[in-house]
Amino acid sequence: MPTFEYAPAPESRAVVDIASSHGLFIGGEFVEATGGKPFKTVNPATEEVLSEVSEATADDVDAAVRAARTAYTRVWSRMSGADRGKYLYRIARIIQERARELAVLETLDNGKPIKESRDVDVPLVAAHFFYHAGWADKLEYASLGSNPRGIGVVGQVIPWNFPLLMLAWKVAPALATGNTVVLKPAETTPLTALAFAEICRQADLPPGVVNIVTGAGATGQAIVDHPGVDKLAFTGSTGVGKMIARSIAGTRKRATLELGGKGANIVFDDAAMDQAIEGIVTGIFFNQGHVCCAGSRLLVQENVVDEVLRRLKRRLGTLRVGDPMDKNTDVGAINSKAQLDRITELAGVGEAEGAERWDSGCDLPTSGYWFRPTVFSGVSQSSRIAQEEIFGPVVSVLTFRTPGEAVAKANNTPYGLSAGIWTEKGSRILWMADQLRAGVVWANTFNKFDPTSPFGGYKESGYGREGGRHGLEAYVSTGQETT
Ligand code: NAD
Ligand code: MG
Repeated sequence: MPTFEYAPAPESRAVVDIASSHGLFIGGEFVEATGGKPFKTVNPATEEVLSEVSEATADDVDAAVRAARTAYTRVWSRMSGADRGKYLYRIARIIQERARELAVLETLDNGKPIKESRDVDVPLVAAHFFYHAGWADKLEYASLGSNPRGIGVVGQVIPWNFPLLMLAWKVAPALATGNTVVLKPAETTPLTALAFAEICRQADLPPGVVNIVTGAGATGQAIVDHPGVDKLAFTGSTGVGKMIARSIAGTRKRATLELGGKGANIVFDDAAMDQAIEGIVTGIFFNQGHVCCAGSRLLVQENVVDEVLRRLKRRLGTLRVGDPMDKNTDVGAINSKAQLDRITELAGVGEAEGAERWDSGCDLPTSGYWFRPTVFSGVSQSSRIAQEEIFGPVVSVLTFRTPGEAVAKANNTPYGLSAGIWTEKGSRILWMADQLRAGVVWANTFNKFDPTSPFGGYKESGYGREGGRHGLEAYVSTGQETT
């Protein structure tokens, strides 16, 4: 199929001013780290170094936890919900005002298309703050139990795939319920979290309510291990989630874990085929497939698999892969060399295990980290590419004959984060949604996010929910309990 030639439509980089080095945000001030080894964050589309970032040591984490404790006892836990809400509304409005700058910064540091950071990530970030601002003075009415209030100091560790959005998922409910925060962004994408620190200052948020410490696994571990942290919220890999669960066992710390996934996107023969093809594309090629709830296993009813594969490949041939700053780009850069290596390795395993490999054959830029949208068909249930999370633009296609077989195959995974169903039959949607062991089930759509809707996993995809009224539960203590 011929593709239209599009002239380049580059977003301007001039809307952001990136400092050459960054400190830590502790107690409302940007401070120097006490001795960690600074590290560089790069633009994965060009390998250009964007900035040098501090590595927070255990001492820095201790200073951040102390600042958060002081802010909690002296200010934040004493403030009325209505007043906390005002700060959250203010933050939400500043995010909207600075939306373009934040979208450009996110795309430069992460590699995702500007179209997505501009139209999905940043608007959802603002929406999360607006939504939780609304709850701050209504916690009594949220069916959380009597006398709902904050727990204390919350330690939060987030991944690189939706850097600012994962920050919003963590910080907005924590603040709305009266907690203070020490947050660590991922080491490859720290810049929007540091911009958020500036936004906290701009909003006159009391010092110490939000503290941002940068660094890698060791810094995250220092947050997990700190005795002054009352609750942990982690989003990332299942491996690290298990380590966190082990390190806090026997302590009084609470935790919510949002981990990996291997979501099944299930297409029946009666599905509206054009919409289903778009849903498959959104399900696995959105954000280069770096999505924990991606529809990375495509289950297609056997009698339509040839048609689905033919249409899907034709559609993938029209995706524009390349410069994330171009407004026409559909698929951007892989976030890091390490992630590219992992995707490449698992794709090799898929081939070695006998699945049929196809990619769109599109041209790729010569510098940066890239992977072509890839389809594996004829994948068996036991294949590693059907079981393990690839976290890249790679879909594994399996077939089924009956709804029962679709459910059995969809549930045959250690994970349970998301699933999708494509069918015109309403009763089948309800039956399937009931049978699928997944935290989110989308019907005739995929990868739809909304702050009012709880999100989270079954089994090794973690525990606890984020978003909606349910998401507040993780951040409150009730009744007579004291901290
Ligand atoms: P990762 O687990 O390696 O890192 C996530 C975060 O944890 C980073 O900030 C990292 O620095 C930190 N970290 C690493 N080791 C740590 C330790 N020992 N103690 C404390 N913190 C530590 O994962 P990643 O490669 O950054 O992200 C990809 C993974 O995250 C995928 O498996 C994906 O499914 C998962 N993910 C899940 C969700 C969800 O909502 N369930 C969302 C996004 C990503
Ligand atoms: Mg980066």
